[in-house]
Amino acid sequence: MPEGDTIWLAAKRMHDALAGRVLVQTDFRVPQLATTDLTGQTVTEVVSRGKHLLTRTDAGLTVHSHFRMDGTWHLYRAGSRWSGGPAWQVRAVLANAEWQAVGYRLPVLEVIRTGAESDVVGHLGPDLLGPDWDEAEALRRLRARPEREIGPALLDQRTLAGIGNLYKAESLFLSGVTPWTPVGDVPDVAAVVRRAHRLLHANKNHWQQTTTGSTRRGEDHWVFERAGRPCRRCGAPVLSAMQGEPEHPEQARISYWCPRCQAGRQPEPQRGPQR
Ligand SMILES: [Zn+2]
Repeated sequence: MPEGDTIWLAAKRMHDALAGRVLVQTDFRVPQLATTDLTGQTVTEVVSRGKHLLTRTDAGLTVHSHFRMDGTWHLYRAGSRWSGGPAWQVRAVLANAEWQAVGYRLPVLEVIRTGAESDVVGHLGPDLLGPDWDEAEALRRLRARPEREIGPALLDQRTLAGIGNLYKAESLFLSGVTPWTPVGDVPDVAAVVRRAHRLLHANKNHWQQTTTGSTRRGEDHWVFERAGRPCRRCGAPVLSAMQGEPEHPEQARISYWCPRCQAGRQPEPQRGPQR
């Protein structure tokens, strides 16, 4: 599942390639859009809302897509070869005279009225990368359920939008709080949110995601995907365990933490490292 900064950058690149230009070809390869054709419409803008991508046209329509686990949009110069995967994984093509935007493996793809976008993104909490980022509202939503563990709470896009598993793990490490700590027991929830906000913004203009300041492989994260390896700050082995919420067990995600650098509740030790 990509982080909000990945979607933000995808939207920016799509906007630069498509906005202000007339679509000369569109091709939607999903049954419910088989007859949809946006040819002749001008793309007005491409924006991200949390992890959703919205491509708007001057006809008052929006192409709504969501990447989920491995969906993506690739940009190619007109006439050049596509390289994002086999042809059967292509879900959509939006082409103007200069660029082709090709959507691969998009599990969510629909064309809706721009005026009805709130139907698909209205449930989202404040967007950490949005122009209307509202920290106070995000904190209000987080604190509304003080018994909730901070890890899953940060991933809940209805609470605040844009944080994925990477920035969850890393902002909690940098805050010295375990992912299992109830929100109400986190000494400074605002500081956690500000760290996540800062990390997302620091990485939004490039595809690589570093939380440590180093872009060298193996040095770019503190604890994320480092289970069993020494904490880069104190040397203790980084731990990992699945973490979910009773009401949504299917949404459990792996959490990483340093038992020495991060204080607060944590699960019983696991047998062997999980990755
Ligand atoms: Zn440590």
